[in-house]
Amino acid sequence: MRNANAPIAPGSTIGIVGGGQLGRMTAVAAAELGYKVHIFTPEPNAPAVQVAKHATVAPYDNQDAIEAFGRMVDVITFEFENVPAETVRHLTALAPVRPSWECLAVCQDRIEEKSFCAELGIETAPWKAVGSVEELHTAIAEIGAPAVLKTARLGYDGKGQVRIHDDTDPARAWDEIGGGPAVLEGFVEFEQEVSVITARRPGGEMASFDVVENRHRDGILDVTIAPADIPPEVAEAARDIGQKLTEAMDLVGLLAVEMFVTKGGRLLVNEMAPRPHNSGHWTQDGCATSQFEQFVRAVCGLPLGATVRHSDTVMKNLLGEDANLWEQHLSDPGNKLHLYGKDDAKPGRKMGHINRIYAKGSQPKG
Ligand code: AMP
Repeated sequence: MRNANAPIAPGSTIGIVGGGQLGRMTAVAAAELGYKVHIFTPEPNAPAVQVAKHATVAPYDNQDAIEAFGRMVDVITFEFENVPAETVRHLTALAPVRPSWECLAVCQDRIEEKSFCAELGIETAPWKAVGSVEELHTAIAEIGAPAVLKTARLGYDGKGQVRIHDDTDPARAWDEIGGGPAVLEGFVEFEQEVSVITARRPGGEMASFDVVENRHRDGILDVTIAPADIPPEVAEAARDIGQKLTEAMDLVGLLAVEMFVTKGGRLLVNEMAPRPHNSGHWTQDGCATSQFEQFVRAVCGLPLGATVRHSDTVMKNLLGEDANLWEQHLSDPGNKLHLYGKDDAKPGRKMGHINRIYAKGSQPKG
């Protein structure tokens, strides 16, 4: 029988579920290591399809199509985690699935995610699961305002969430997020938002990238600053949290963990994603190994690459029409421009990003 931890050799085909920019940049990194990529996506001209050898275009719930895809690849991973966990479970019989469907199930659902943290003694904002308007009334009484009501599943980039103030009508807030299941979270007066990405290969070896600061605008990541300007002991604690969660999930691949840093230096986990993350794009130009290369190495069971930061980096997302200013962005020779090949520059849509690199220690703060 095949050793479950044996490497999946270059030349093999990596199946990626999801066709967005994360899949596109993973496919490019995979090609550099000699792999072929097969994308599964509902969108014919998705960013990842444009750079992959094979693509299956079908809805995520097309069981026959996803099983046929599973038979054509040597390992399966995700750039999009909101695939029905049940669909993914069926794939396990066809090829190694990394990370596992159990990891996806935890990260797909805010209630599972927060309960998982609680079991490990990792702090989050105070929260309550809510399944009805009546439960929301009780939760508000318990947690107090201000608070944030979030759908338990399928929320991203600030969608599916609403602020609760003293004068908010709970029934209206409930309607606004489209009903439950949901969580009510206490509002955190954070000093900073940070994240850390941990890679883990089969057998358990792990490597973490530097902790970075994330600044959001309208609920969408705007800028990532690498490294975060936080005391070394807080950075160490953030890396420990990332590794503890990765190990406890027995995750193979990447786990991105977003956290709030409070004024007193406490770390509260906000969200996790079992895949490359927007806050890790800086590694493409600021680090010895990019998060995408590391993802491929981890999923294929290759030795992990060095995560040392060679340059301080500021990553800026290009949303909507911002990407059309490519000429202006390129006129600064220190800017590294990454575009995703999307046609429709809708407002707020992630079209590309810029990594601006600086000599270590010289990056402007704040
Ligand atoms: P999320 O979708 O959970 O990542 O939330 C999007 C953004 O909303 C976060 O990055 C924060 O800036 C803000 N946010 C979410 N939850 C809270 C909270 N409990 N307290 C304060 N700000 C929050």
